[in-house]
Amino acid sequence: MEKNEIEAAVAKYLEQKGYERMALKAAMFDMDGVLFNSMPNHAKCWHETMAHFGLDLPEWEAYMHEGRTGAGTINLVSIRQRGHEATEDEIHNIYKYKSELFNQCPKAERMPGAYELLYKVKASGVVPMVVTGSGQVTLLERLNRNFSGIFKKELMVTAFDVQYGKPNPEPYLMGMEKYRKATQSPKEGLAPNHFIVVENAPLGVQAGVAAGVFTIAVNTGPLPDEALLSQGANLLFHSMQEFCDEWEKVFSVLSS
Ligand code: CA
Repeated sequence: MEKNEIEAAVAKYLEQKGYERMALKAAMFDMDGVLFNSMPNHAKCWHETMAHFGLDLPEWEAYMHEGRTGAGTINLVSIRQRGHEATEDEIHNIYKYKSELFNQCPKAERMPGAYELLYKVKASGVVPMVVTGSGQVTLLERLNRNFSGIFKKELMVTAFDVQYGKPNPEPYLMGMEKYRKATQSPKEGLAPNHFIVVENAPLGVQAGVAAGVFTIAVNTGPLPDEALLSQGANLLFHSMQEFCDEWEKVFSVLSS
């Protein structure tokens, strides 16, 4: 990506939001599909589970719903195919089946380029944070094992912290609030222009944009770029490796 493309994207964001400049302090990273390559397993399990229950959700479409709650995804398919929502029992059974299938899958690998990027981000003096809808109990341990020395527990937002989840801006608003608390900053000193969001899913991009934050999409899945750009992504890279390779350029614009 050319530097002037990044400059144009940042200038457009600043103008829309009425900020004079970026004052980047922290980068909020989504987890599935950004830090870990876990989406192919999720998509495959969703497809197989729905088929088992006589419902149809193609794998590519599972990427469109990434970030939705299990119940939300099940109801969407049920309404489309049967004209009504699923019962609570159905939701319970379908989601249980999907979770069991998912747990049998091999653990997802770290996304190529992700660790290097986080390392660079941190070395630039920007605090890396995780904002995820995931509620795995071993999440912090897993992050520390795969991204040693990068994340702090008090600077993470997980399924346990939020009520609504993405595409609601709540998780990212909470991320900003956690950063403010951890740094004991005054509230008025920490507007969204102190942050960036890194997301791979349309609903995640929607959440970052709704929180007012400069949102960088990494298109690590099978969807067309437009699926992320149409949700308001400010910049788009095609992989975490590409973003990592371009970090110096991005950071120089964000900190100028
Ligand atoms: Ca994601």
